[in-house]
Amino acid sequence: MLTDQVVAAIKTMVGPEHVLTREEDRWCYAYDATDLARLPDLVVFPGSAEEIAQIVAWANLYGFPVVPRGAGTGRAGGAVAVAGGVVLVLTRLNRILEIDVQDFVAVVEPGVVTGHLKKAAEAAGLFYPPDPGSADYCTIGGNVAAGAGGAMAVQYGVTRDYVLGLQVVLPTGQVIDTGTRTMKGVVGYDLTHLLLGSEGTLGVITRIVLRLVPLPAAKETLAAGFAGLSPAARAVGAILRAGLSPAALEFMDRATLDCMREALPVAAPADTAAVLLMAVHGHPADVRQRALKMMELCRDYGANAVLHAADPGDAARLWQARRSISPATFKVRPDKIGEDVAVPLGAIPRLVSGVEEISRRLGLPILCFGHAGDGNIHVNIMYDRRLPAEREAAPRAVEELFRLVRDLAGTLSGEHGVGVLKAPYVGMELSEAAIDLQRRLKRTFDPNNIMNPGKMFPGGG
Ligand SMILES: Cc1cc2nc3c(=O)[nH]c(=O)nc-3n(C[C@H](O)[C@H](O)[C@H](O)COP(=O)(O)OP(=O)(O)OC[C@H]3O[C@@H](n4cnc5c(N)ncnc54)[C@H](O)[C@@H]3O)c2cc1C
Repeated sequence: MLTDQVVAAIKTMVGPEHVLTREEDRWCYAYDATDLARLPDLVVFPGSAEEIAQIVAWANLYGFPVVPRGAGTGRAGGAVAVAGGVVLVLTRLNRILEIDVQDFVAVVEPGVVTGHLKKAAEAAGLFYPPDPGSADYCTIGGNVAAGAGGAMAVQYGVTRDYVLGLQVVLPTGQVIDTGTRTMKGVVGYDLTHLLLGSEGTLGVITRIVLRLVPLPAAKETLAAGFAGLSPAARAVGAILRAGLSPAALEFMDRATLDCMREALPVAAPADTAAVLLMAVHGHPADVRQRALKMMELCRDYGANAVLHAADPGDAARLWQARRSISPATFKVRPDKIGEDVAVPLGAIPRLVSGVEEISRRLGLPILCFGHAGDGNIHVNIMYDRRLPAEREAAPRAVEELFRLVRDLAGTLSGEHGVGVLKAPYVGMELSEAAIDLQRRLKRTFDPNNIMNPGKMFPGGG
């Protein structure tokens, strides 16, 4: 239990100025980017792995939950203290410790904002490709813990593909290092990748060794509008099959386009039902050729408008419009359930038409957009909780969506994770035996269930 004596001890460990006890202060750390909220008993901003290890050791001894938190931009409720306890905010651990241009490696603390690392790598002539839409404010620690993706995954992969090693405070208070600083390494079980995407349930990540790649010499941005969804989906397949290796290949349906029209640098034709937004990275001559070929393919597949960003400013405006989608969706309804399902590439048209069918049947607007190049589509179920019919229909839409995704051999989450929101549905994707094995792994790491309890597993366990 979190007694006055324990709170006093934590204040001594980290300094009283790094502990929030007043209710109005603690409410600021009760939320993430879902509509869940739960008031934590204490909010602590530790300054080192040693302090974290001490707090976690006390949690084990006195039996209170510890919830690691980065920037709180998660979309699954992972950083919400559903069982109370201490929220451990990692934003003071925000140093980029090293960028080594010889080794192509960065060593960072977990509270580094992802966009800051991207800029620091670029200043050294290197590139850290993962780019969640929240990169300007989310943390690397949150990206690693959530298994974050982003638009550039088509060419470069996701956060998981860049993590070489970790320092982790285990739920028992022990500190371990996993992985290597080398590009290869197969000694022992791959604990690094077990901790990746573990959503703060297996330990607190306190240092991260990341792989960097050379900075692409040239980048181009293209957009194409289509009068129907299926020609756009067929164009995606054709671009990928032609080996044109887009860095990003994003998709927006008509309802999404309607939300973001004002943010677009050029007007889209009125009959546009789907838009593809694409980036190409590489050597200058090759990039131009691939971009021209992609424009040609889009026209061949029936694009009614094709735009080639003339300069970096135009390109930035197009990507800014893409980033504006998430807040713009609230023009449609005041509430939303944002899912991030992924399906095999060939199944995207069936996913989108299936979602249209669910939307029609349940009478709810549902917006589809996202990473068509890797089959990860954001399905935003919009509703108004003040209307009983919509309030009841929204969770039904989630269940029907997940059933559709399962039938298409897809996954419930491509990048946001399970957290609290998807925990009840995990059994739709994982077998009982697989869930049981994961529960036993959790118990091995965390025998007293103090590390971010109530997440990941059906029934909250
Ligand atoms: C507008 C918007 C756009 C987004 N776009 C994308 C996108 O394109 N791709 C994508 O993948 N996600 C996206 N997200 C979701 C979110 O930004 C990511 O999941 C991100 O990785 C969360 O980082 P965070 O620092 O906010 O973590 P938090 O929300 O604070 O935490 C997320 C999870 O990680 C755990 N955690 C955090 N830090 C640590 C640590 N040091 N050690 C152990 N566990 C830890 C928490 O307990 C929690 O379970 C978006 C969110 C928003 C609001």
